Amino acid sequence: MSKFEKRQQVISNGSHGLVIGSGIAGLLAARVLLNHFAFVTVVERDSLPEQPGARPGVPQTLHSHGLLKRGSNILEQLFPGLEAELVAAGAILVDLIADTLTLIQQDSFPRCPSDLIVPSCSRSLLEWSIRCRLPKSDRLQFLDATQVKKLLTDETNSRITGVQLLDRDDLQLGELTADLVVDASGRQSNMPKWLEELGYPTPAETKVNAFLGYTTRWYERPQQLDADWKMMLVMPQYLHESRSGVLIAMEGNRWVLSLYGFNQDYPPTDEVGFLEFARTLSNPALYQAVKDAKPVSPIYSFRNTENRLRHYEKLKLPEGLVVMGDAVFAFNPFYGQGMSAAAVGALELDRCIEQQLRSRTDLTGVSDRFQKQLAQSLQAPWLLATNRDRARLSAVDATMTGKKLGLIDHLSRQYGQEVEALLKSSPERYRSLMEVYHMVKTPTALFNLKFALNVAKQVLKRNIANYSHAIWAVRSLTPPL
Ligand SMILES: Cc1cc2nc3c(=O)[nH]c(=O)nc-3n(C[C@H](O)[C@H](O)[C@H](O)COP(=O)(O)OP(=O)(O)OC[C@H]3O[C@@H](n4cnc5c(N)ncnc54)[C@H](O)[C@@H]3O)c2cc1C
Repeated sequence: MSKFEKRQQVISNGSHGLVIGSGIAGLLAARVLLNHFAFVTVVERDSLPEQPGARPGVPQTLHSHGLLKRGSNILEQLFPGLEAELVAAGAILVDLIADTLTLIQQDSFPRCPSDLIVPSCSRSLLEWSIRCRLPKSDRLQFLDATQVKKLLTDETNSRITGVQLLDRDDLQLGELTADLVVDASGRQSNMPKWLEELGYPTPAETKVNAFLGYTTRWYERPQQLDADWKMMLVMPQYLHESRSGVLIAMEGNRWVLSLYGFNQDYPPTDEVGFLEFARTLSNPALYQAVKDAKPVSPIYSFRNTENRLRHYEKLKLPEGLVVMGDAVFAFNPFYGQGMSAAAVGALELDRCIEQQLRSRTDLTGVSDRFQKQLAQSLQAPWLLATNRDRARLSAVDATMTGKKLGLIDHLSRQYGQEVEALLKSSPERYRSLMEVYHMVKTPTALFNLKFALNVAKQVLKRNIANYSHAIWAVRSLTPPL
């Protein structure tokens, strides 16, 4: 009997939820499906490692991964005690305001104790720890080295009834039935192709590509380090610079250094070029910290970083199917939102199924409701990432073409610069901004009239000064009549 036939026999005894992909989104989906289904199966194309480690299906594992506070809270809610387990495995608790040295040129952002404390660890340790927390029993099974090839439907073609699978070891095909299929197969999701094969429309896509390149190297953390920070971030000056970098303490007495270049200013992957790129950041502190540190990995590069939203919320999907994680919202990773967005998605999925099963015995309508709620709950982080990247693109366009910025672009650019200046001098405001960024407060927390007026006043002052300067210049060049 094949492994698929064996699993089919087990799941025939009750309701069954099937998850495609065992990345962060897939694992969290599996966790919440266990609340509602008798059996859950996670199908993963890769062979899953026994210990934390890289695997081909998630190449981003080699790069620094930070959790937002909201993501960290949801993980703890779904897996109580996970944070303590991560710390026991070497993760380092970082207060994202007190322990983070954030630099832009010679300035630094305020540092003071906050509630924004998250465990800092590699993505492979996090994924592995979550996987270990899921029960290993007939109720939940991982079918690894197994690829989902297509969706199966009922005779009316209106409901997904399961998937076709390929065993990557013996190349045998098989099938599993399911009451709900969750696509959590990431940026490379084949869902549009599978829907097309079934005669369904494919989702429209919104893409914003800031052409960000990522390059990462791991270092031994120096033993005698006398630093009052656990994470150092050198930010690019708003819309003026393309280069940035982050150095984060991780488990195993390691540092991970990721260098970023927007607008195709890609950080090099050779020894000399990599460090030289670090040296040219707007503040030399990060370069000074790593220049003599001992590297413990090659230099890894990643460039597929565009923001891409597949609008499943605007489609009529077949029943029995939902799509989540990077397969829907793939963010520019610079903003560190992906894992937390996946966690928000898992809670939404849990809520949708629970609400449905309170009033009905089947899942009709869940697909539609889930995709709409997911789109709504991730609107704020999506706008944050894409608005900043769009502003960058229009700034680059203006520089390259010599085109003048439109009035709105010009004012919003100045507004952004003034916000940055005021944040540097106000720990309170900075904390509010960080809470919104970390998704623990809604953006309305920032709409403080006094603050907005303060910023607007600075912008106005600057424009009046520029304007009077221009009038004075024109007057002095104009011959008297
Ligand atoms: C360079 C980089 C840095 C990042 N940094 C951060 C960060 O700092 N903070 C943060 O929160 N997020 C970060 N992210 C994003 C984060 O990695 C993802 O958003 C998050 O892990 C959720 O991804 P996912 O589970 O949806 O997909 P993935 O992690 O891509 O997992 C998809 C899984 O599906 C499997 N799969 C695919 N197709 C099939 C198939 N047909 N059958 C079976 N299995 C299949 C794959 O093998 C894989 O295991 C970063 C991303 C990148 C690229």
